Amino acid sequence: MSVEPSADLQAPPGAWTEQAAALLDRVRNGRAATRQELGQGLRLGRKALPPLVSALLERGLLTDGATGAATAARGRRELRFAPDAGALLVAQFGATGLSTAVADLEGRLAGRHHETHDIAAGPERALGRVEELFDRMLDERPAGAPAVWGIGVGLPGPVEFRSGRPIAPPIMPGWDGYPVRDRFAARYRAPAWVDNDANLMALGEVRGGVARGQHDVVYVKIGTGIGAGVVSDGRLHRGANGSAGDVGHVLVGGDSPVRCQCGRHNCLEALAGGAALARDGTAAARDGSSPFLAARLREREASGGSVEARDVADAAHAGDSAAIALLSRSGRLVGDMLATVVNFYNPTMIVIGGGVASAGDLVLAAVRRTVYERSLPLATRDLRILRSADSVDVGLTGAAHMAADELFAAHALARWLPLGSPVDQPELTEANVGEERRPAVRPRRT
Ligand SMILES: [Zn+2]
Repeated sequence: MSVEPSADLQAPPGAWTEQAAALLDRVRNGRAATRQELGQGLRLGRKALPPLVSALLERGLLTDGATGAATAARGRRELRFAPDAGALLVAQFGATGLSTAVADLEGRLAGRHHETHDIAAGPERALGRVEELFDRMLDERPAGAPAVWGIGVGLPGPVEFRSGRPIAPPIMPGWDGYPVRDRFAARYRAPAWVDNDANLMALGEVRGGVARGQHDVVYVKIGTGIGAGVVSDGRLHRGANGSAGDVGHVLVGGDSPVRCQCGRHNCLEALAGGAALARDGTAAARDGSSPFLAARLREREASGGSVEARDVADAAHAGDSAAIALLSRSGRLVGDMLATVVNFYNPTMIVIGGGVASAGDLVLAAVRRTVYERSLPLATRDLRILRSADSVDVGLTGAAHMAADELFAAHALARWLPLGSPVDQPELTEANVGEERRPAVRPRRT
């Protein structure tokens, strides 16, 4: 939606947009709803608040709740953030699949699509396919649907958040340094942001998933590879270059060296991820230790395939002892790593997601047992370890929240609010990340 700025707002002073950003932040995050609460929270005088609220109502960014009796005092009527002011295009890549959706500014998804896709086919094919899906979604929307305000993309590898490029991603040949962000921003004439998939899943869990309302959370994705996202005091912790939480390549012990996709040996991912389960499940099928997997291998080979991680889960479900041992080992190795993280970082919740985690309770049980055994009592006193309800949706939701957070950060808002919307401003992304961040400490919700 594009709203003509009224004359008095053509050139708002810096303080004005900062106040607008603070106000929107409070309303978006549910920390204030009435004019009274906003006035108190923002320390704005009686005269300063009304023009600010009117301007944001006029821009279509707020709606006046107008609930309750018609006689309700104006100060008590609820203001709400208008999530349909703009739309977000979101995409999430895994090692073996891709998902797309269109989201509103509060991360609600519509038009979800999921298909299998090999990330190793390279960026041209992967991003070309996502563009096709995005274009189709946009074509199918009714006339008058909100304009695209931003794009959020998750990739299964290390991403330099500042530039929106994957950097030496181990399972993504051909993607190193590819300008993913710039490609989407140029095509859709809107700002775009790209992040590691586990980061976005962590954000999605905290805003709308099983970790909703938690402030200190670690999300671990056990899929083909292993990665983690860290939420600290309610905000995603990316670290200096965007690699925080990249736990898949920490060294774990082992009897014999196992080569990892990254080129090193005995990485956590190489011993406990889905690809490792498929490899060791195949070995168990061949050496006779797993009759179940031997039968499954024959079926798969008949159609040109081989044992997959989900076959190991099926075998364990059927009571196959070799498969149970493999999944337990996975959980134990992930639990060892997490015990270190728990002692170091003291989260209140760990969420385990990804294909391997969703295959059954064995992995989760082994993770729990190991973390509680190996962490200090104070660190685990309030710790809960849960399984994600849905890694696909939570990644897409996280991608939408990432884009919305960036769009409504004070420094971005200062640039687009005077123009009415971020449409046709793909360059917003560049100034938007890295240098000028939000305040270091965001107040906890009360
Ligand atoms: Zn590695």
